[in-house]
Formats: sequence, C-alpha cells, structure tokens
Amino acid sequence: MPFEVTILGCSSATPTADRHPSAQIINIRDTLILMDCGEGTQNQLLHYRISHSRISAIFISHLHGDHYLGLNGLLATINFQGRNTPLDIYGPEPLEKMILDHFNYSGTRIKFPLRFHVTHDRHAACIVDNEKFRVKSIPLQHRIPTTGFLFQEKEGLRHINVQACEGLNIPYIHFQELKEGKDYTDPEGNVHPNSALTDAPSAPRSYAYISDTRFFEELAEQIRGVDLLYHESTFLHELKERAIETFHSTPVDAAQMALLSGAKQLVLGHFSARYRDLTPLLSEAQVLFENSHLAIEGTRFNVD
Ligand SMILES: [Zn+2]
Repeated sequence: MPFEVTILGCSSATPTADRHPSAQIINIRDTLILMDCGEGTQNQLLHYRISHSRISAIFISHLHGDHYLGLNGLLATINFQGRNTPLDIYGPEPLEKMILDHFNYSGTRIKFPLRFHVTHDRHAACIVDNEKFRVKSIPLQHRIPTTGFLFQEKEGLRHINVQACEGLNIPYIHFQELKEGKDYTDPEGNVHPNSALTDAPSAPRSYAYISDTRFFEELAEQIRGVDLLYHESTFLHELKERAIETFHSTPVDAAQMALLSGAKQLVLGHFSARYRDLTPLLSEAQVLFENSHLAIEGTRFNVD
C-alpha cells in the first residue's frame, strides 16, 4: 500500500520563478491529504495531474500566507466543480472564519460538506484516528501559533504465505480471514494455526511534517524514530542569527533534529527565495546527516 509524499511547493515567504510556496500531497494507503496550501497549489495539482476530488483532508500548519493563501482559490474551484463528498480542514482556530467570511463577501454558497477542526499549539494531540492511520498535531515554535504533524500508519494485515496455503489447498475465499489473523480449519476438521500460514505484517511507517519552527530539542521526543522527516531549512547556517530572529531553521538544525529524533530520512524544504542554487543547503545537512534530500517540486518520497 502506498505511503508517499509529493512535493508541490518548497519556497518560503515569496515564490521564485521555479519554486512555489509550501504544499505537499501525502498519499497514505490511498487516502490523499493536502499538507499546507500556498498560493498556486491548485495549479500545481493540475501540473502534476493530481485530482482535487481525491483529496479528503487539508492540513494547515499556520496562518502565514505562504502556507494557506492558495486555500480560498482551491476551495472555490472544488465548489465550482460540484463536489459532494465531505472535505475536512485542520488548522488554527481563526481559519474557519477567514474562509467563511471570504465566501460570504463574495456571495458564494458552499455546496459540499466543509468540516473544520481546530488545531492547538499548546499541547500535542491526536487529531485523526481511523482504521488506516493516526495523525498527531505537534506544537512548533514560530512567530504565530504553528503546529507540525506526525502521520503514523497502523499495523496492516498479515501477509499470506502462498506456498503454505497452496500446500494445503486452502481456497482463496479464506485468505481475507487469514490476513486478519484467524486460524484455518480444513474440511476434515483439523485446525491450522495462522502463524503457519501467514507472515507478520509490514512494520507501520511514519512521516513528520515540521514547518515552520526554530530549533528546539524537545521536538525530538514527539517524532522519535520517524521514517521520513520533512523539516524546514529556510536559511544557510551562516544566517543562523536571521533564522533565530525569524523563528526559522537552517539545514544544520534540520539535520540535528534528524539525528536527535532517530529519523531515517530527511527532506529539507521551505527555502528562502535568496537561494537560486539549493546545493549548499543540501551539502550543509549531509555533513551531519547523510540521508538528506531536497524537497524539489514534483519529487515523490516513499515512506519506508
Ligand atoms: Zn512559511
């Protein structure tokens, strides 16, 4: 089952000619989630051929424009094109009023179920818990209330041991029950234990989205052992002072967080428009944490 992150935008504050503000699509076991929605996100969805009708939830980390200014436009298009399935939006408390005011002033009636869920920046909280995954919101340290998000897959079904099952001529009709952990009773009444017919499910995978924040050590505990860590890296470390002033991070901060939390893979993003060439940001992180990558738009990262 897929668990992958597609980068739609990787710029901080202002876009550049080839970089859009923050947005990502997270596909977690065929549920599509839009993470942040900077200006131009709907164009990026078109560009990468991802249908907005497949998106079931949108998460907004905070209310700086580079993370949500694309939302009204995207919602207007969704409304215009006649969606009727619900759309869940998770974000800071004022977001609901901001969106609804906009539609009220433009005389637009929202014709599909739009459900708002408030995130909190004072304490971590489990905000989604379904049969496939959990999402935890995590307070970050930025100039305004901001949360990161941790996506944790739940343990999947057991894998059929085809050889063992074929050896006993077990009909396919029983495979679903076997995957769910049940034993098999053959026509003669002999019980075959599940452990002899299936293998353990794949290890659950996890993804953390951390943008925007200054570096703070306590974050590591919240994302301990994460498989894929996206961490903002707005400035090179030579601008560490500027990063501290503006509550942002550098590639060194991101790599240190990857090390501290025991992350397996690091993706850097949210780059300042001042950098045309992003290689120095990547090199800076790789000195400390080799498995680092750039959030280049269009790149799809597998969580495994
Ligand atoms: Zn930002």
